[in-house]
Amino acid sequence: MSRTVSKVETFIVTVPRDTPYLGPLGSGERINERGYVVRKGNGTIYPTVDRSIAVRMTCTDGSEGWGETYGICAPRATCEIINDLLVPEVLGRNPEDVEQIWDELYGLMRVRGCTSGFHVDAITALDIALWDLRARGHGVPLWQMLGERRREHVPGYLSGLPAATLEGRVEMARQFQDEGHDAFKIHAVVSSEGIVEEVAALRRALGDDALLMVDLHWKFSRHDALAMAERLAPYDPYFIEAPVKPEDITGLAWLAARSPVPVAAGEEWYTAYEAKLRLEPPSVRYIQPEMGHTGITQFRRINALAEAAGVQMAPHATIGAGLFLAASLHASVTVPSLWRHEWQHSVFSRSLALLDTDMAYADRSYQLPTGPGLGAQPGARFWEYAEQVD
Ligand code: MG
Repeated sequence: MSRTVSKVETFIVTVPRDTPYLGPLGSGERINERGYVVRKGNGTIYPTVDRSIAVRMTCTDGSEGWGETYGICAPRATCEIINDLLVPEVLGRNPEDVEQIWDELYGLMRVRGCTSGFHVDAITALDIALWDLRARGHGVPLWQMLGERRREHVPGYLSGLPAATLEGRVEMARQFQDEGHDAFKIHAVVSSEGIVEEVAALRRALGDDALLMVDLHWKFSRHDALAMAERLAPYDPYFIEAPVKPEDITGLAWLAARSPVPVAAGEEWYTAYEAKLRLEPPSVRYIQPEMGHTGITQFRRINALAEAAGVQMAPHATIGAGLFLAASLHASVTVPSLWRHEWQHSVFSRSLALLDTDMAYADRSYQLPTGPGLGAQPGARFWEYAEQVD
């Protein structure tokens, strides 16, 4: 008996936070009248709350699946695309056809410039819900629909040291190291003390064995990025991340061929189409797909390209209610060449509080949620922060 999608509900989930993402406001930074802050280090706009978009998809047999996507900025734009454009094309469809549905939803707007951004985010929310429904329909955890389980847990690395000063960030890193953490990614471009000074101070404080990853937030031209990599090399970073602007595809390859420090990139990619352009040799060493942008369908296709290119996967973790993170963990246990998955400690515990799940992070690893589908669904706290959008 085939079951088909009969209803999709869309929610904006907004969770206030005391300290803005990426740390306290720096000099010259202000919260604007809509609650956003533009970070001077990279010129990018961020909300001062944690926010994402969740969808609940119901089938004709009464079964429910959940999906989630980015909603940090202008979330109503994404909700409108979901509700106005995509849902009518998903109603009546069988979750077993999820990959075909992705292709069709993408095709609706591909000739109108909507090949990433809000449009693909909107598809992502539905894609994850369809995969959740598909796995639940089979009565299996999501990973079982995606491939073989390559590992019991998903190894992680700590990301972000949200303190106002370099001294505070060094102290925070030391405390995490005392708790057993061995790998630290820093948002170096928001450091007012300077990127090299930041990395040097952390290397001195944490010792030679600590892995240090340096997120450059797309700040540089290719030549300036190479100069920065050469200045950072004596401090032995494990990789530099997002060194050049996303549009500079040849610059990323140019840098990857010359940098004395391995290069990572890819949290801003949405599809395998974008990834393919950037995985032509010489390519970066690590790619960092973000499930909140790619959904499961594109995450898998990007992974197939990475495997063929001999590039390791280091999936990204961002602000969300934890649903797309759960999807990312299910996908990650099946990835042959996984390095580690990002662990955003300042977001993770807040997400967990919203969900009914046994997902956890301990001993430098994520514990995969158990149970059918995602193994995670909204709990009582979620509904305190969720607003339905029609
Ligand atoms: Mg990053």
